[in-house]
Amino acid sequence: MEEISKNFIENFIDEDLAEGGRFAGMQVHTRFPPEPNGYLHIGHCKALIIDFGTAEKYGGICNLRMDDTNPAKEDTEYVDAIQEDIHWLGFDWGDRFFYGSDYFEKTYEYAIELIKKGLAYVCELTPEQFKEYRGDTSKPAVSPYRDRPIEENLELFERMKSGEFPEGKYTLRAKIDLASGNFNMRDPVLYRIRYIEHHRQGTKWCIFPMYDFAHPIQDALEGITHSLCSLEYEDHRPLYDWVINNVSVPSRPRQIEFARLGINYTVLSKRKLRRLVEEGLVSGWDDPRMPTLCGLRRRGYTPAAIRNFCERIGVAKVPSTVEFSFLEHCLREDLNDHAQRAMAVLRPVKLTITNYPEWQSEELDIENNPNDPNAGTRKVTFSRYLWIEAEDFLETPVPKYKRLYPEGPECRLKGAYLIKCTGCVKDADGNVVEVLATYDPDSRGGDPADGRKVKGATIHWVDAGNCADAEVRLYGNLFSDPDPDAADKDYISCLNPESLEVLTGCKLEKMLADAVAPAQFQFLRMGYFCVDSKDSAPGHLVFNRAVALKDSFKK
Ligand code: ATP
Ligand code: MG
Repeated sequence: MEEISKNFIENFIDEDLAEGGRFAGMQVHTRFPPEPNGYLHIGHCKALIIDFGTAEKYGGICNLRMDDTNPAKEDTEYVDAIQEDIHWLGFDWGDRFFYGSDYFEKTYEYAIELIKKGLAYVCELTPEQFKEYRGDTSKPAVSPYRDRPIEENLELFERMKSGEFPEGKYTLRAKIDLASGNFNMRDPVLYRIRYIEHHRQGTKWCIFPMYDFAHPIQDALEGITHSLCSLEYEDHRPLYDWVINNVSVPSRPRQIEFARLGINYTVLSKRKLRRLVEEGLVSGWDDPRMPTLCGLRRRGYTPAAIRNFCERIGVAKVPSTVEFSFLEHCLREDLNDHAQRAMAVLRPVKLTITNYPEWQSEELDIENNPNDPNAGTRKVTFSRYLWIEAEDFLETPVPKYKRLYPEGPECRLKGAYLIKCTGCVKDADGNVVEVLATYDPDSRGGDPADGRKVKGATIHWVDAGNCADAEVRLYGNLFSDPDPDAADKDYISCLNPESLEVLTGCKLEKMLADAVAPAQFQFLRMGYFCVDSKDSAPGHLVFNRAVALKDSFKK
C-alpha cells in the first residue's frame, strides 16, 4: 500500500490488522448493503468507494448484499439496476452476491438462542403504549412483560411465527437496559409481526427481524471484518456489538461510521427521488438531471470523474455539503483530457462566403484533441454556405464585441480561413436570416500568409451542405434552492422550472451523424456533450450537455 495520508477508517483497519489486533493475519472483508427500494445515487458512490475501495487497497474483498430485510417496496428492477450501476463504476463482488433475507432462518435461530439465555422476551405493549412507556432522559422505560418466563417466551415466539396473532400484537425484544441513556439500548425490538409478501421469501414468514438485529448477524455470517456505514448508525453501534457478543455467530465484525455525502442543489434520498419519478416531475430515474448513477451516466458523467470526485472529497466523520460545481469540475477535468473535439452549432444562422465559388468544396484537417498527442486529425468539409451560432453575429456591435459585424474585425473560422463580415440579409420582420462575409484564400488552416494580427475571435462553424441535424438538451440544476433537502423545506417547491432547455434544428459536423452512446465530445466553445442513450436514433440525433465549459468552481 502507498504510504500517503490515510483516512480514519484506514487507521482503524491498520490497528486491527497489526500484531495482537482484532483481525491480525486476516483478510479485510467489507460489504455494500443497499436496500433495493430505489436506484443508487451519488451518495451511494461514496459508500461504494469506501466499501469496495478500502477492500481493494488492502487486497481484501467486498460482498454485495441486497438488504431486503424490510419486506416493503422491493423490486427486482432495483436489484438489477443496482448491480449494473456498481459494475459501471468499475467494482466487482465476484461470486459474493447475497440477500439479507437468505439469513432469515439463521436469524430466527439466534433469536431463540437469546430467549433461551434470558436475553429476549415477548412483549405485548401496543405501539401506543410502547411510546408512552419509553421514558425520557430522566425516566427509564417500562415493560410489564420483561420477566416473562423463558418457556412462555419460546412458546409465544413460536406462535408469532406460525401466524396466530395479528400485526402489532406482540414483538420480541432484547433484554438489555431500560434505563440506558442510549434509547437504542432500551430493550429494542428484534422481531415484529408483518403479514406482507416478501419478494424472495413469499409468505413463508410473518415475523421479520429489525435491521439492528439482522445486520450484525448478516455481517458475521459472511465473515465481514469491517462493517462500514454512515453516521446515522453510530448510536446503534452499542446494539450491533451487543448482538455480536450475545449470539453464537462465527465471527466478530467491527462497525465503523463515516459522514454521509451531501451535495448542494439536489436531494440524496431514494424516497425523495422516487417521489419525483412517481409524480412525473422528471422523466424517470435516469432523467439526466437526477443525481442517480443512471441519470449521471445518461447525462454524460464518466466513472472516472465520479470516482475521482468521491476520492477527493475524502472520508470524514463530520458531515459536510459538497458543491455540485465540484462534481462538474471533476467531469470537466476528465473530458478535457479524453473527449474528442467536434463542431456543433446550437442556434444556427446561415453564413455565406460571397467570394468562395458556389460549386467548390474542400476538406480541411482539424485536430481531434489538442490535449492528446495520439488523437490525430479528422477531415471536415468547407464550402460557400456554412452555419454559425446566431450570437456570433451582431448587426450593431456592443462594446468589446470581437465577433462578426459589418466592417468589424477579421475573424478566424476554426481550422479553416480568415473572414471579414460585409453585411447581412433580413426577412420581412427584420430578423437576420443570413450573414455575409468574404474570406482570404491565402489563410487556409486559419493563419494569414503575411503574419498580420487577427483581431477578431475564433468561431466555430459547420458546412451547411454536409452536416447532421440534432436535438440538443441543455440542463440546469434540478433545484433552484441550494439546500432543498433542509428539514424545514418542501423540496418539491424548490424544483427549478428552467432545469431543461431543448434546442431543435441544431447543426452538427457530419461525422457526428453516426455517433452512438456513450460517445462523448467537446463541442467547441459550447461544452461537453454525449449522445442520449435512450432517445437518440439514426436520423433523430439527441445530444445531452453533460457540463458547460466555463468552470464556476473556485479552487
Ligand atoms: P436513502 O435515504 O437514499 O435510501 P439509505 O442509507 O437508506 O439512503 P441504503 O440503500 O440503505 O440507502 O444505502 C446503502 C449504503 O449506502 C448504506 O451503507 C448507506 O450508509 C450508504 N449511503 C446512502 N446514502 C449515502 C450518502 N448520501 N453518503 C454516503 N453513504 C450513503
Ligand atoms: Mg437504508
